[in-house]
Amino acid sequence: MVHVAAEAGEPHAKRRRCDEASELWGDPDLKLFRFTQKGASWQCTCYNPHHQDEGTTKCTKTRSGAIDGEEVALRLLKTWALEGLEVFSKRDHGDCWEEVVHAHRAGLLASTEELDARVWEIAEWPPADGA
Ligand SMILES: [Zn+2]
Repeated sequence: MVHVAAEAGEPHAKRRRCDEASELWGDPDLKLFRFTQKGASWQCTCYNPHHQDEGTTKCTKTRSGAIDGEEVALRLLKTWALEGLEVFSKRDHGDCWEEVVHAHRAGLLASTEELDARVWEIAEWPPADGA
């Protein structure tokens, strides 16, 4: 007799770690930004090619959802990500964070809907470098 009834949720089934989720933001064909959840924190990885040439560390920013909540953490990171379109080095992009936090304190942060709409408006990647 062969026992065929396989139970759902087998312990051997490979599962993604439930405390880490990762997804691209914006048009996946352009590969603009990635958001990765790490416990209570979110990390944004910026794929702007202009920001990849200084050392081996990627252009990233992390914000804990424990500070002002997860929604605010994501809005801050999305705002920061879009600021990166205007600057042409990883260091300059890192410096943008201070402005983003200032905007947040002043209540000037765009809504999630606005930010999500803006990322889909990006048609050119990599962004043209000023000139
Ligand atoms: Zn960047």
